Parts: sequence; structure tokens; C-alpha cells
Amino acid sequence: MERILVSACLMGRKVRYDGRAKTSSDAQLATWRQEGRLVPFCPEVEGGLPTPRPAAEIEGGVGGAAVLSGAARVLATDGSDVTGEFLAGAQAALTVATSFGIKVAVLKEGSPSCGALSIYDGTFRGRRTPGQGVTAALFELNGIRVFTEDHVAEAADYLRTLET
Ligand code: SF4
Repeated sequence: MERILVSACLMGRKVRYDGRAKTSSDAQLATWRQEGRLVPFCPEVEGGLPTPRPAAEIEGGVGGAAVLSGAARVLATDGSDVTGEFLAGAQAALTVATSFGIKVAVLKEGSPSCGALSIYDGTFRGRRTPGQGVTAALFELNGIRVFTEDHVAEAADYLRTLET
């Protein structure tokens, strides 16, 4: 049985920067949960950041790959540099995913860690730009397909191709 790593906040865990969850009511996720397939994980918490914490964005909105290569930092609204924690969290997520043989992840869209298609642009003005978070980028670099919480059906289709 293929396992799926999922952003912990989507599963009701209050791990977001504002101390809240972003619980998904997706029926497929609920089915996978019942089947014992889901591995909930929060890269920011596992990387050592507290909850709640200041919101953070990738400098210049340039995407997680630039953070992984050392070309960009992750900065919080209080001016602190949280790049190290984001990198540690991404690496911890990859370690857990690898230990379960995971090839599919469903991650919270827009997050500087988990965003799969879009992130915020680094200005803290609520503007999104195409790009990936740090963990999402590391997953894709390592062959783990990443889907947003709005594309769980596509994740399920991909999972079926792995199991047939
Ligand atoms: Fe959710 Fe990911 Fe942010 Fe953690 S890092 S709160 S799992 S979006």
C-alpha cells in the first residue's frame, strides 16, 4: 500500500503560523486516512519553529529551489532569517517520506514550505506568485510528486498508476 505525506495543518493539526489548522474536508483524504495511508507532517514545526510564529515568505518570491541552492532566504515579518529552520524542516520531511517509500504528497497551497504551485511574493502584501515552497521543491527534486489540497483527485489518479 502506497503511503501519502500530507501537510499536518490539512489534517486538523494546529501548526500554522497563526496557531490554527486548515482542516480539509476532502473525501478522498478522509478515505486515505481511514486506510491508514496518510503520514501528516509539518516541516516548519519539525524544523524547529514555534507555533504560533511570525509569518514567513521566500525573499523575492523566487521559490523553494532558490532557497535550497542558497540563492534566496526565507524571512519572517519580524525580520528574522528562518532559512535554516525551513531547510531543516524540508530535509526532515524528505527523511520521513523516504522512510515510508512515499512517492506522493498533498501539501497546503501557498505556504513557503508546502506550496506546490504558488507562494507569496516576499512583500508580505498578500500577493501570490507561481512557485513552490522549500519542502515541495525538495520533494520534486527527489522524485516525489506534489499536489495541492485542491488537486487530491489528480493525486489519487497518480497513486493508481503506481499501484497497477
Ligand atoms: Fe501546514 Fe506546511 Fe505550514 Fe506546516 S509548514 S503549517 S504543514 S502549510
